[in-house]
Amino acid sequence: MWNSDARVRAAYAEGAGIYRIVPAAVAIPTGVEDLVALVHKAVAAQTPLVPRGAGSGMAGGNVGPGIIVDLSTGFSELSIDPQHRTARAGASVTWAQIDAAARPYGLRLPPDPSSGLFATSGGMVSTNAAGPRTVRYGSVRRWVEAVQVVEADGTVRTVARGAGSGERFALTTDDRQRITARFPKTRKNSSGYGLDKFAETGDEVDLFIGAEGTLGFVTAVRWRLDTIPPDIAGAALGFPDLAAMTEAVPYLVSLNPSALELLDSTLLRFVPEAPRVACLLLVEFERDSAAAARGVVGDAVRGLKQAVTHVETAVDRRGLERLWSVRRLASPALARLPPSQRSLQVIEDGCVPLDALGEYVAGVRAAAESAGIPVAIFGHAGDGHVHVNALPDTTRSGWRDALRRLFDDVTDVLLRLEGVPSGEHGVGRLRAGMLERFYGADVMDLFRAVKRAYDPLTILNPGVIIPATGWSPLAALKVGDGAAVIPDDIASRLRDVERNAAWATPKLELTHQTPST
Ligand SMILES: Cc1cc2nc3c(=O)[nH]c(=O)nc-3n(C[C@H](O)[C@H](O)[C@H](O)COP(=O)(O)OP(=O)(O)OC[C@H]3O[C@@H](n4cnc5c(N)ncnc54)[C@H](O)[C@@H]3O)c2cc1C
Repeated sequence: MWNSDARVRAAYAEGAGIYRIVPAAVAIPTGVEDLVALVHKAVAAQTPLVPRGAGSGMAGGNVGPGIIVDLSTGFSELSIDPQHRTARAGASVTWAQIDAAARPYGLRLPPDPSSGLFATSGGMVSTNAAGPRTVRYGSVRRWVEAVQVVEADGTVRTVARGAGSGERFALTTDDRQRITARFPKTRKNSSGYGLDKFAETGDEVDLFIGAEGTLGFVTAVRWRLDTIPPDIAGAALGFPDLAAMTEAVPYLVSLNPSALELLDSTLLRFVPEAPRVACLLLVEFERDSAAAARGVVGDAVRGLKQAVTHVETAVDRRGLERLWSVRRLASPALARLPPSQRSLQVIEDGCVPLDALGEYVAGVRAAAESAGIPVAIFGHAGDGHVHVNALPDTTRSGWRDALRRLFDDVTDVLLRLEGVPSGEHGVGRLRAGMLERFYGADVMDLFRAVKRAYDPLTILNPGVIIPATGWSPLAALKVGDGAAVIPDDIASRLRDVERNAAWATPKLELTHQTPST
């Protein structure tokens, strides 16, 4: 039922993100029945289970010392209902597979994670994933109609939107007031249980979305789909400073873009073809006609002509691809960095209110400067949501302390600006211990109450969202001297997976021995 072979355990010791934690064993259930039997056995043995999809999550929710439960293969059913505009997808089905199946009907799943080629339905729901189009269409939460779950005691249930709050957890009037007072007002949030949404809708499904495998296994999802708008146009707009960019963002958001992405100079410097500006905004508009799409690009450019120092426009999909290639060129450039300079995701997902975007980018730049760690900043400007690759030289003495300083300083900046530590990647192990600073002790108590209601024996993903005692976010790193020892060939294949974003690779393939010649 589970495999304790040392090479198999090693292949599951890492996900995307910073950690290497060798699990006790690995299970790959073949379907719901098999998973239920596994849960019963784990409960009897009091062994923690770590739900996992493709392993592309960056916050460390997909690794842990218990038994990794790989749901990336055994739950692959997919059917589209064009009449009702829905898709039923097993937990293993990726965004790209849903998109390919829905497209012939003129339909799509609007939130578009850049990891859509490999991110599974179970993983996307569990992190409340998002993408560039989220500025207009929201995170995946808005598109989940129902989930099938296997709970911590092995019960199998379907939890549907509109079906009420279930029997496990309810909020009092006082709780609701605390939630309203303490939940941040950012446009995106994947930092802890979605109690604000639960309070608003009364839908139990809102607790499972973004729960990061701590409340139950998601085995299937009923997705709502949307029609694909026929026309598209956009622009690349360069700004001389952060203040000008920050002022432009609310104006562009008011024009209802389908994407509004930021490339900061810290990222642009890696792309020789990029314009020399302090920051670049890429904006895309989807409309019902070509004239409407072109018209709104004209409005955007005219409205900002005093603020920008660089303008390029595109009137169709191909032109837009060309404009957006700057963003795509950055990834291979970062992958070519010397092996000693590792891209580590520790402050990679902060989200702030829109009017604080420039201040946040300036704060991250300053914290990086002070820690002596180069960073590359980019992200979803229209949502006030910024990704940061920290690029420490791991051969330099003191790099870990510097990284911790960066982590702490950026947390302080987020607190000051009333932001959240995760806009879409989740809390995982990395951010669990900082949640109380963002929400206060009362809301943290509510998070604990949710966890107790669904998983009273703490079988599911302990240490994720609810912090482990002695939370230590930068321990168990996959880089540096202290990294857990695993076979060299597997370590180097895991590194290749990371460099090439090959998270769809079945992890058992990493264990194959190369025949000696
Ligand atoms: C190159 C790259 C680009 C990325 N771009 C984006 C992006 O644009 N937007 C975005 O939101 N994220 C992005 N991510 C992060 C990641 O792809 C998403 O968080 C994705 O939703 C994770 O899916 P997964 O299948 O890999 O889940 P995993 O990483 O395996 O798991 C993530 C979390 O969900 C839980 N989980 C997984 N499956 C289940 C299940 N079936 N039931 C219960 N719990 C489960 C795990 O326990 C864990 O806590 C990116 C990552 C990479 C490496």
